[in-house]
Amino acid sequence: MKWKLIYPRWRKLDRQTPFNLPPHGPVVFAAACPEDVSLEFVDANVQDLVCDDRPDLVCLSVMLTAQLPEALRIAAAYRERGVPVLAGGIAVMLHHRELRPYVDSVFIGEAEGRMAAVAEDVRRGALKPVYDYLSSPAEIKLVGTARREILDRRAYTYRNVRMVDLVHASRGCRFNCFPCCTGYLGGRVFRPRPIDRVVEEVASIENDGLFFVDNSLAQDTAWEEDLFRALIPLKKRWVSHPIEENDRVLDLAYQAGCWYVYQAVFDTSQTIRRRIRRYHDHGIKVEATVILGTDEHDVDGIKRLIDFLLEVELDLAEFTILTPFAHSPIRAKLAAEGRILNDRYEDYTCDRVVFRPLRMTPEELREMYDYAWDTFYRHESQELKMGRLFISAFKRQRERVGG
Ligand code: SF4
Repeated sequence: MKWKLIYPRWRKLDRQTPFNLPPHGPVVFAAACPEDVSLEFVDANVQDLVCDDRPDLVCLSVMLTAQLPEALRIAAAYRERGVPVLAGGIAVMLHHRELRPYVDSVFIGEAEGRMAAVAEDVRRGALKPVYDYLSSPAEIKLVGTARREILDRRAYTYRNVRMVDLVHASRGCRFNCFPCCTGYLGGRVFRPRPIDRVVEEVASIENDGLFFVDNSLAQDTAWEEDLFRALIPLKKRWVSHPIEENDRVLDLAYQAGCWYVYQAVFDTSQTIRRRIRRYHDHGIKVEATVILGTDEHDVDGIKRLIDFLLEVELDLAEFTILTPFAHSPIRAKLAAEGRILNDRYEDYTCDRVVFRPLRMTPEELREMYDYAWDTFYRHESQELKMGRLFISAFKRQRERVGG
């Protein structure tokens, strides 16, 4: 049986250096598919997508809301040809009710242990309109090594530098931050993968650069320490979302190859200042992820925030405009206050204002977005800063592997 797995194209964040990382959802999904399914994968962000074939099933893997318009166009093209279309991924989970009329089937939840039944339904021509596993996450020990061999490796380079491979050591997150949908996605319970499975997967990746895409590694101190200890002998270099601010954990993370972390920065507090210093003291670089447009932000406040980011010597920063994604706490609040201005999927790219800010006009917020990028990268472009970061990581990696 032949399935075609497609990762739809979307418009990248305005101002960001344009590179493509190998997508994670499709390779994880592929690992959950039965062996008798022959999978063809197309990442439409880096490969040409031609919709003139007739696979037994088209699977759309949709992570971002902004991918949905393209996903719907692909679904229409295949359904017109009589090919059934199944859609899954985070954005589908968030919008499954609106999407149901446009695809044959929506898959809501985690795929591990469930795709054999779907394959059987496809074989019988009896695909169900909804596979709903949102409230019953897969057993974490069923998560196997992602099937990265379906990727076209050559597509994921930037200026001849190979992009990192994505991997995850856990699912879920015990926090419930205001812009995040993880709570709705069934993720309030932290579910670490067995460390030996993570080690097995990491060891199988021939790329030495990795990105642990776990929501946050700062969930369980003992688990973090065990994970980092287990990673040390593999001599990989990796980036991740936050790590616990604890000297022993940070030291182990560095020894395990932590190269830099993404750290959310909303304000100019001493807590943030101390956290960045601590990462730096442990040899770990920091990329700030900065959401602009919270109810605390006004024009002057954003200017002060950018000055602060420069003062604390962040290595990189990525600015986005607060975006009320479906089922996030911030969406519930803004909707209750009648402040959502726009529901068009294609505008949910985090560089457009789709709600009414409290202390600015939408136009002022958009201007502050440009101001933030321009001011932070005034003396050294994002590309140059990234280049510096890469060089330091390569140097350190040479020493580690050599030693
Ligand atoms: S933003 Fe990160 S830490 Fe916060 S709830 Fe979402 S996944 Fe968890």
